[in-house]
Amino acid sequence: MTADVITIFPRLIEAGLEAGVIGRARERGIVDLRVRDLRDYTDDRHRTVDDVPYGGGPGMVMKPEPIFRAVEAIAAERGPASAVILMTPQGRTLTQGLARELSRLERLVIICGRYEGVDERVAEALVTSEISIGDYVLTGGELPALVLLDAVTRLVPGVVGDAASVDADSFDGGLLDCPHYTRPAVFRGLAVPDVLLSGNHGEIERWRRRQRLLRTMARRPDLLARAELSADERRALEQGELEREAEALAAKPRAAAAGAVEIEKKRREP
Ligand code: SAM
Repeated sequence: MTADVITIFPRLIEAGLEAGVIGRARERGIVDLRVRDLRDYTDDRHRTVDDVPYGGGPGMVMKPEPIFRAVEAIAAERGPASAVILMTPQGRTLTQGLARELSRLERLVIICGRYEGVDERVAEALVTSEISIGDYVLTGGELPALVLLDAVTRLVPGVVGDAASVDADSFDGGLLDCPHYTRPAVFRGLAVPDVLLSGNHGEIERWRRRQRLLRTMARRPDLLARAELSADERRALEQGELEREAEALAAKPRAAAAGAVEIEKKRREP
């Protein structure tokens, strides 16, 4: 997979793509991720990328010409893009499913907005997908582009060493992940569940699956309708067999910082 990110802050993107799994995947040539400075595609002395909005009002708008030029130059160099993505809070919300769809594409181009946003003609005539990372507004598209690239790149085969670990993550198969523990077996009086120390792999797998179900019921019941469940699991859900356990899990107190408790209470309100 190749991806080209168009931005007025190339260093911000570069810094986010250097470290960890993504950095190693780039070094090994599994993915080819490049950063394009939008100002390189301007044609005036001041390398202007924005202008005042037609109709007046606050802020500046990103000009269409440099963005069109950048996308066209990338296509000439790399071949036509499989998707030209504009990061915008008004786009389709990024999900694991969407990340998976994008990870199967060959060539991505990602446009980062700034200021009040991008001239609408970019969305009309150049962009194939508008994507948001959530219902809040950031100052620019660089962090959203990094979030998108991180989510997509780790799903490209070979990027994460153990593919099974990616497949068991939250949202794959429609469930949240189970809890994880490492040594020591007891920490500040908090013990790791016995089953994980038992060495019985069948039991451990059953426990993990049940935890995934319970967690999803407790935290994200909205996911269950579309989750991949066995007939037995679906029946247990329909007959309310796990309900009490899930409710207990949802009500389980967490760390006791006053502000955090308030936020948690609000989260559980309908
Ligand atoms: N006026 C725009 C609106 O209300 O829809 C917001 C502009 S925002 C200040 C500047 C840029 O940040 C956007 O063009 C977009 O590229 C990026 N951005 C901000 N929030 C985002 C989000 N939740 N998801 C994706 N991109 C976002």
